[in-house]
Amino acid sequence: MKEDLPALESLRVDLAALRRRGVDEHEVQAELPVDWLAAALCDTDAEVGEPGSVSLRLLLQPEGVVVVQGAMALRFSVPCGRCLSPAAVDGNTEIFATFMPGAEADEDGPADEDLDPDDDSADVVRYQGPVLLLDALVAEQVALAYPMRALCERGEACRGLCSNCGYELNTLAAEVRRCPQCHGEVPLTPVADPPDETRDERQDNPFAAALSKIELD
Ligand SMILES: [Zn+2]
Ligand SMILES: [Zn+2]
Repeated sequence: MKEDLPALESLRVDLAALRRRGVDEHEVQAELPVDWLAAALCDTDAEVGEPGSVSLRLLLQPEGVVVVQGAMALRFSVPCGRCLSPAAVDGNTEIFATFMPGAEADEDGPADEDLDPDDDSADVVRYQGPVLLLDALVAEQVALAYPMRALCERGEACRGLCSNCGYELNTLAAEVRRCPQCHGEVPLTPVADPPDETRDERQDNPFAAALSKIELD
């Protein structure tokens, strides 16, 4: 959890108060403000333009165990992996975690850090004190929503930037195969040249063949 992340009071649940009232099921719904989402994603190049939301159900179980499940909805944008223009990211995700009182974690705390991330027990979160910090859990999920790779609205058709000089290739006509700035050959899409089958069709098509000759000359 990031130390500079502002607290989101609506996601801090006073368990002691719930238990005093004999409550064993509790719903939490909260808006995730733009500033807070931006703070949760501050280590990335994501741009947040609208608030998100989260809806969680807490089941209070014996011995301080709290099962949390629900869903988070958010949208943000990241630079397109090819052309760097904004690419929309749908960060909607389900949330599932089990909170356990942290007393035992003090004894074998270091062992927790060796947990295999793929292990189910990684979903176990230790907590201390009477207040459950669901904002930390949600912030972690927000950070995990950052995609490995995203494409702008052009999708796979995005031609990206010239690998030699950075020229924006999406501004070129689809059949142009030379960068107008550095005159290097550029692929029709970054998936490189069309597969062989397509190339054969191109040669069968007199118009396309003539066009590609012009470009190569
Ligand atoms: Zn793009
Ligand atoms: Zn170029």
